[in-house]
Amino acid sequence: MKRGMTLILSVLVSAVLVGCGQQPSGQTVPQTPETTEAAAHVHVYTTETVPASCTSPGYVLHSCACGDSYRTDEVPQLEHTYTRSRLDATCTEGGGLLYTCACGDSYIERTSPPLGHDYQQAEPVPPQGNQRGYTENVCTRCGDTYRGKFTWTNEAMGAYFDDAAFIGDSLTYMLFQYNNSVHPMGNVTFLCRGGVSVHSLLIGQRALTYRGKEYAPEDALKACGAKKVFIMLGINDAPWAGVDKTIENLQEMVRRILEVNPDMEIFLQACSPILKSAEERTMPNNAYYDLNRGIEALAKEKGYHYVDITTNLKLPDGSLIPEYCNDSFAHLNPAGCEVWVNAIKEYVYEENLYDPE
Ligand SMILES: [Zn+2]
Ligand SMILES: [Zn+2]
Ligand SMILES: [Zn+2]
Repeated sequence: MKRGMTLILSVLVSAVLVGCGQQPSGQTVPQTPETTEAAAHVHVYTTETVPASCTSPGYVLHSCACGDSYRTDEVPQLEHTYTRSRLDATCTEGGGLLYTCACGDSYIERTSPPLGHDYQQAEPVPPQGNQRGYTENVCTRCGDTYRGKFTWTNEAMGAYFDDAAFIGDSLTYMLFQYNNSVHPMGNVTFLCRGGVSVHSLLIGQRALTYRGKEYAPEDALKACGAKKVFIMLGINDAPWAGVDKTIENLQEMVRRILEVNPDMEIFLQACSPILKSAEERTMPNNAYYDLNRGIEALAKEKGYHYVDITTNLKLPDGSLIPEYCNDSFAHLNPAGCEVWVNAIKEYVYEENLYDPE
């Protein structure tokens, strides 16, 4: 009903407004009942020339007040026009050339790598009570800071080590002596013996001593009642047995320890580095690095702790800092042992293993 009325009205209007419904091309659209409604309006186009820019093409826009529009004379988008400026390298960004277009588009051509931070160490802040000490490192260029070389008082966390035992060779013996003089680890037990290797302990060629008696590692731990064991072994194995065999033997040693002491918490320590000058008669530090990666992988696989005590003991080339050595090889002096203990306490702290309250 309603549609019928509209149609009648449209036909009437179209009879008056001749020429409506013409396309831009000038062709007349055949009049049908469906198109006569649009034919009630004659488009009147105004033209506007939109120039091409580097972000859009150019064209002539023809638009009618009714909203209808179309484009002609399209020209392609222009190239960007870049101006070039020099970028100096910073700590974190490389140097190069910056190309910028007025439209905001830009790109960088790198010509040099980032400079990297130039950190200088401030005076160490000493530890106090259960608060750790630290050294602030400040970049001389950008002011970026980070804290490192965390230190702990001898009293801090001492009780954590009351039920801990250390198994090791002559390297650990140095820690035993250090602990005897300054007592940073409570009533810790040392089960160490110079020259022992994982291999010699496994085959029973060597033994560990506890209160004057000799034991295999797993039995020594049972005898002393330890609940945690910190092991550092491998430096007497790897040079001749190779890394893979050493790791395999270490795994077997831990297996035996857990067989006899099922609740033992296992801490595998990285072997401490050796002096650069000692590499020739043992093995290069990068081989010890491989050994430590192997120990770390074993710990990860089996869910043991891995304590990398080497971070603050070595030079950038991976060798032992000479100031921490008390011989021409690898044994740590008290200053080196202090770094060692701090690394262990830092691990205990970071892993939330001990609550001093
Ligand atoms: Zn129109
Ligand atoms: Zn542009
Ligand atoms: Zn910086």
